[in-house]
Amino acid sequence: MPEEFTPRIAYFSMEIAVDPHCPTYAGGLGILAGDMLRGAADLGVPIVGVTLLPRKGYFRQRLDAQGQQTELPDDCQAEKFLEPVGADCTLRFDSATVRLRAWRHVMQGLAGHRVPIYFLDTDLPENPDWCRALSDFLYGGDEHYRLCQEVVLGIGGVYLLRALGHHNIRRFHMNEGHSALLTLALLEERIGKPNHTAVTEEDIEAVRQNCIFTTHTPIPAGYDQFSTDLAHQVLGPERTALLEATQCCLGGMLNMTYLGLRFSRYINGVAMHHGEISRGLFPNYPIHAITNGVHAVTWTAPAFQELFDRHIPEWRQDNLYLRYAVGIDLEAIEDAHARAKQILLEEVAKATGVQLESQALTLGFARRAAVYKRADLLFADLEKLRAIRRRAGPLQLIYGGKAHPRDEEGKAVIRKVFQAAAALRDTIPVVYVENYDMRWARLFTSGVDLWLNTPHRPYEASGTSGMKAALNGVPSLSVRDGWWIEGHFEGVTGWAIGYDQDPEDHAVEIASLYDKLERVILPMFYARPKAYAEVMRSCIALNGSFFNTQRMISQYIRDAYIPGMVRGAAPALVRDAGPAS
Ligand SMILES: *Cc1c(COP(=O)(O)O)cnc(C)c1O
Repeated sequence: MPEEFTPRIAYFSMEIAVDPHCPTYAGGLGILAGDMLRGAADLGVPIVGVTLLPRKGYFRQRLDAQGQQTELPDDCQAEKFLEPVGADCTLRFDSATVRLRAWRHVMQGLAGHRVPIYFLDTDLPENPDWCRALSDFLYGGDEHYRLCQEVVLGIGGVYLLRALGHHNIRRFHMNEGHSALLTLALLEERIGKPNHTAVTEEDIEAVRQNCIFTTHTPIPAGYDQFSTDLAHQVLGPERTALLEATQCCLGGMLNMTYLGLRFSRYINGVAMHHGEISRGLFPNYPIHAITNGVHAVTWTAPAFQELFDRHIPEWRQDNLYLRYAVGIDLEAIEDAHARAKQILLEEVAKATGVQLESQALTLGFARRAAVYKRADLLFADLEKLRAIRRRAGPLQLIYGGKAHPRDEEGKAVIRKVFQAAAALRDTIPVVYVENYDMRWARLFTSGVDLWLNTPHRPYEASGTSGMKAALNGVPSLSVRDGWWIEGHFEGVTGWAIGYDQDPEDHAVEIASLYDKLERVILPMFYARPKAYAEVMRSCIALNGSFFNTQRMISQYIRDAYIPGMVRGAAPALVRDAGPAS
């Protein structure tokens, strides 16, 4: 591939979703990373992506009749979706010398700009078996496995960029703490010797100037951390001493969040509220906020793509134009939605054997089956739910989502949804679709009538599936957390569960959830369909036009990448036609 620009920014992420058929991601973090790079390709940003190759994917989910999850390997078919690159490097960790190679995927932007993404691979015959296995699973294995993967991603990623000839990179963006060891590699480049421990504040400052850290975790329990004993074993005594000297090991733990914070000039949370929470958690750091977005073209269903192409053809190049969706007539919105809904119901029927009703209010809920997402909140009172069905009209529910293989509580939540589905069988159809992935996410977020989101506040740093729904005119019924605090206009873009002033209170949230469904949403859906279509249209105009990657990347460029980039700042980021670096 001829490089048509000199990359200036490297974006590191443990997972990056590049293709719906290639399982190189587990959930929202990887989807966001893929959308970020897709958007960057559209905008002509000189950026490269760096991630790990998970040959066996995250996992393929199987659910039995009781909702018991089992996990199967999910071949990512590197040979089919990625191309090998002719560069490699070696690095030492855990007393082994490990050879690393890479595979490339190229994201092509709307105007033809190409953004390469490198997938790091340790599965080479000369490496020891335990080391080859590091390229098997995303988020698999134990702590040792995980730390070794992070060494490969952070340190190996920097080595590989250098081996590929990328010497002009001026910004290293860490998408969450998993890649924070890249700062160690940069520090070692700076001080010249890998085993040098006498690091100065100037050295740290020089690395800081080039690093950007995005945190996605609103609670300390979510931090990625490892015991210093394990760090000692894997990284060796010199590197561990270096990390200790830079105060990234606290209380016997090497904390990747602290490492990212300590070595970054620009730090941000992923929604305004998450920025505030992060400032409370890390009062010693200047923490900004850039609210997430989704790649509009990727997440807009064909029916709505056609509709937008007809009415606002500029929307692909400039997502701000989605604002002019206010001028589209309601019948056209209803019509496009009916087509997206029909496709979803057909796919659900194929996958589950259940034919849902095309006229019934259809709620969607799908995301990782982590306990804090509370997939079972809607089922708190089945009698009440049956009464709502009797009094206000039919409703049906479509669920999806995987629990991490070691998350027993998450798996229990899936079983609870299955139990509720069985109990409600005669009144409210509930289906659970196996193996929720990017393909299903596109069908779900465009084909349901209402997107349900019930996280435990304040655990949802941002959330992005509701943004995908908004692009397709699907309103949210959501707890006021993450992006929804910004996207919510009551009765205009959807509805809130609970009240902002309240402390976290299950009972209040459940009462409010049932109340909104029964008194507001179902009556509007059945008795005032034009009013419902108006809400759908406002979702596109108000939220589709804003919660997209074009707006998000513009903010990263302006606030995080450009400041102080080089003398003369801005021109460095403008795509240049220089020779391959
Ligand atoms: C968008 C997406 C997510 C993230 O959804 P949240 O609402 O942010 O949790 C997870 N998984 C897949 C497959 C997605 O497409």
